[in-house]
Amino acid sequence: MNQPRLTARHAEFFAPVDDRGKWHARWLVTGTAVCGTPVILDDAKRISVRGGMSWAQVHPIICRRCLRRATSTGYSAAGIDHG
Ligand SMILES: [Zn+2]
Repeated sequence: MNQPRLTARHAEFFAPVDDRGKWHARWLVTGTAVCGTPVILDDAKRISVRGGMSWAQVHPIICRRCLRRATSTGYSAAGIDHG
């Protein structure tokens, strides 16, 4: 049985300033990518992911490690920038 993975909560994802690679969730205090990728994120370019979306509906440019960390019930979202 393959249950579709669903986002449990809203999250914001930000584009790298050089427009290369995935878009990431970020920590509120440091502004760094939640997954640890060393990338500078652009505050002006963001994608909102709603709660209750299937992962398949989430744009493929969004970093899956950040998606899991920012939107799964198994993780705390404390400290993540939710816009
Ligand atoms: Zn990431």
